[in-house]
Amino acid sequence: MAEQEATGLQVLLRTLQSCSDRESILTILQVLGDLLSVGTDRRIRYMISKGGSEALLQTLVDTARTAAPDYDILLPLFRLLAKVGLRDKKFGQKALELEALDVTLILTRKNLSHSQNLLHCLWALRVFASSVTTGAMLGINGAMELLFKVITPYTQKHTRVIRAATDLLAALLKSKSNSRRAVNRGYVTSLLRLHQDWHQHDTAGAYVPIRRVLLLCLKHIAALRSGREAFLAAQGMEILFSTTQKCLDDKSLGPIVSVVLQILRQCYPKCPLPLVTASSAYVFPVPGTTTSEPPRVLTEEDFEDDGDEEEDKDADSEDVKEEDDDLETDVNKLSSRPALDRPEEELLQYEAMCLELSCSFEELESKPGDDLNSGGTQYANHHHIPTEASPKQHCSNKDQNSWEQEREDTVQTSLLSMVKKGRSPVQRASKKGPGMRPCQNAQCSGLGMDSSGSEIPDIQAFLKEDAWDIDMISCPAMNASFPSFTKSRETVEVIDKLLQTHPRHIPFHDPYLYLAKARRTKSVADFKMMAFPDLWGHCPPPSPQPLLERKCGIQRIKIFEDVQRFIQPSDVINQVVFSLDEPWQDTASNCLRFSSKFESGNLRKAIQVRENHYRQSAAVAGGAPRTCYYTLTFAVTFPHSEDVCYLAYHYPYTYTTLMTHLDILEKSVNPKQVYFRQEVLCQTLGGNSCPLVTITAMPESDSTDHLEQFRQRPYQMITARVHPGESNASWVMKGTLEFLVSSDPVARLLRENFIFKIIPMLNPDGVINGNHRCSLRGEDLNRQWLSPGAPLQPTIYHAKGLLSYLSSTGHSPVVFCDFHGHSQKKNVFLYGCSIKETLWQAQSSVGSSAILEDVSYRTLPKILDKLAPAFTMSSCSFLVEKSRASTARVVVWRELGVSRSYTMESSYCGCNQGPYQGLQFGTRELEEMGAMFCLGLLILELKSVTCSRQLLSRAVALLNAEEDTLDLHLQRCSSSSSSGVPSELDDEPPCMEEIEYSPDSSSDQEGSFSELDRQIQEWAFHKDEGQEDEEGPGQGRKATP
Ligand SMILES: [Zn+2]
Repeated sequence: MAEQEATGLQVLLRTLQSCSDRESILTILQVLGDLLSVGTDRRIRYMISKGGSEALLQTLVDTARTAAPDYDILLPLFRLLAKVGLRDKKFGQKALELEALDVTLILTRKNLSHSQNLLHCLWALRVFASSVTTGAMLGINGAMELLFKVITPYTQKHTRVIRAATDLLAALLKSKSNSRRAVNRGYVTSLLRLHQDWHQHDTAGAYVPIRRVLLLCLKHIAALRSGREAFLAAQGMEILFSTTQKCLDDKSLGPIVSVVLQILRQCYPKCPLPLVTASSAYVFPVPGTTTSEPPRVLTEEDFEDDGDEEEDKDADSEDVKEEDDDLETDVNKLSSRPALDRPEEELLQYEAMCLELSCSFEELESKPGDDLNSGGTQYANHHHIPTEASPKQHCSNKDQNSWEQEREDTVQTSLLSMVKKGRSPVQRASKKGPGMRPCQNAQCSGLGMDSSGSEIPDIQAFLKEDAWDIDMISCPAMNASFPSFTKSRETVEVIDKLLQTHPRHIPFHDPYLYLAKARRTKSVADFKMMAFPDLWGHCPPPSPQPLLERKCGIQRIKIFEDVQRFIQPSDVINQVVFSLDEPWQDTASNCLRFSSKFESGNLRKAIQVRENHYRQSAAVAGGAPRTCYYTLTFAVTFPHSEDVCYLAYHYPYTYTTLMTHLDILEKSVNPKQVYFRQEVLCQTLGGNSCPLVTITAMPESDSTDHLEQFRQRPYQMITARVHPGESNASWVMKGTLEFLVSSDPVARLLRENFIFKIIPMLNPDGVINGNHRCSLRGEDLNRQWLSPGAPLQPTIYHAKGLLSYLSSTGHSPVVFCDFHGHSQKKNVFLYGCSIKETLWQAQSSVGSSAILEDVSYRTLPKILDKLAPAFTMSSCSFLVEKSRASTARVVVWRELGVSRSYTMESSYCGCNQGPYQGLQFGTRELEEMGAMFCLGLLILELKSVTCSRQLLSRAVALLNAEEDTLDLHLQRCSSSSSSGVPSELDDEPPCMEEIEYSPDSSSDQEGSFSELDRQIQEWAFHKDEGQEDEEGPGQGRKATP
């Protein structure tokens, strides 16, 4: 059947091209028309593949070049051309080569007053112009002038022709050279005039499609700088603003309003950053640089995106997805392991950071039966992620038996009870997931505090002796009773009184210790102020906050407000009220006062725009030249007068907070049980210590067996906060740390079976000085892992050194994970590395089936997907991108051979799946994620072939006790282990079948073209109703999607 059709079709096409007999041609066109009218796109594509386009174009040229062109042939031919041309990506090029462009333009010119013929010519030109280069050629040959003769002056006669002409004009204006020509010929004014005329006369809204396409013409022109200038000069903002005001509520005019908004946004003059230089307001001399570069002055150039010089490009040449371009397809690069990036002797220095490998633990008694659990009740050894029982635990006053009670609670409410049950989201009515119970009493009694309480007098004494030179910013109303507040010598007393007046104990936080730590934190600007909330400590919001729903039309309102301000600038004040660069300007009265001179503060400049409208810029601006930034707008209502309010991008987590936290953690553990060592990985450029934490269980005794077990524990390495703005990563890390030292049975198992190496803050300087992404050198440290240098990227250099040392001594970590925050995606997810998936995605010619790859990199994310309420596998990716070649994830995977090397991203926003669907992330949820990550590591081990029999049996006992809360997932571990099948492999079907790739289904672009199809069909339907067509658009027809 298909065979017959093929031969038939080819014969027809061949005959059409060679035949000169009028009747035969008409018959063939008739047959082809019938054939294609019932057929699907596939039939048309088949015809194209058999040379259909060329045959039709050739017939057109031959017919048109005769002395008196025969319109009985031309009209059906044009309709066929339009139909076929829509589906032929190379149609414009073919038309150009066969000289069909010229003949069609000539026919168009001849038929300006014959609407029927004109309409058909315009349709043909429209498909020719689908290619931008052909469109540019048509422009050179005067097509636009011709079209303006058709569409101006305004008329409602022959609207079908006008529609086709505006469609064609819009297609032509996609070419930049045509847009330039339009600007030079003053078409911007003509188009605005037409827009006004149609707006005025089409009160019934019958011609929305024409009006919309006219606006699209303006939009294409406004892509050029000269186009925008012409638009502004022609009062375009005012015209579009005023014509649109009354249409806003009319839904049928929605398509018009949306294009108007796009034009207004495009043409709204870009506001230069109100900064003198692109460099930071703070200056830091980087070691090794002798000449200090003069600060780069911002010029107009920095803010202009000048696309005018760009060549006309065909859209289909850009079809290749950018993302895939970035994939690493060099198999050598993917699978070879580069040599060590430094002399091997250098690794010896890290021996001192792995004392656990050499320590003999002589202080331990050699009593294997010693019950370690009996001692140490004075240690606040628990994690405080709220659990079913924890509100009671936190909020009740402690009685004599509290510690004991607490221990019981802790054991009973292990992390396991918070594992998410299935994937069904909780009802929206009860927006609480597991572990989300709010603290009922605002004044929770702290837990971590108490153990360190004994330290308080010492610190106080220390602070009093040493004149205290750090002030804090607090609420003036609160200080009213402490008039001497500002005198630094008395700060401690003031804080003391404040803390007594407003007692609030935050677990694992201590304001006094914070004071001592803050003093050692070195900032470039030498901050003398402390942010009060940071000193005070953070309590998570009492209940989870729902995600804000985007109000319909909010963006519209904002844009119109902007435009109104632009065209009516009368109430604009525009006064600098705070500036790090020009501190003398910082004196304005009668307005809000700003400050950012405290740790992690990053406000550089504030400008009062109108009475209650301010504009702020970040302290470290920088950014690439010619980058356009968007403005975030938000409204704050201050509930109290004379109040101090802090505005932050996300829950802050400062370096000082971390250092305080680590000290309290260390004191909270029972040193007989928990091996917790805090040391300095290195000094940063800014002179701060980058902490390294080691957590494991103490060996049971110093017997050879126990020491052997201790030293053979596999390593896990976790890092965070290489990007200082991603404070969510620190909250996840906080959850991880607190869980790992806790008395949760899972934590105990983890400690007994692993050694955790944790670098909780890879970029302390960035955090302290309020950077968003960079180090003090202005570098993204997560792009320095390929070849970090000790002098300039010390934390990365030594983190990599430590990993190399572990690797060289046979202790490569089982898992490496770097915690990050994600500003665009929701939920929590992992990025990992896979050769096969990368080659597959890139559709590489290298047969990925030939490459052997351990698929275990997928196990941990799959486990977390089942455990952690916030986590979702569906956002995970395992592709190796060229642009990520120097990130921790890729370098640790490739150079250090850690197959489970990850970046864990936590949303700044919240969840759109799972039990937390529709909720924002508070610190509680982030901390919980940190704990769940640890549980994930344990289950990963249980599923691995190397898992020891002892761990397995203990874990199974523990997990079985929690049968109700754990799903089949875990039970399977125990059953598969008894059958002796290596569970890690068992669980992973071969890569190819298992992964649901969604290869870019070459989606049809019909959507955009179907409109022309529809017009042609509509013409066929209406053609007998006479020439004076006054068709309203879409009469009684379904609107095309
Ligand atoms: Zn990041």
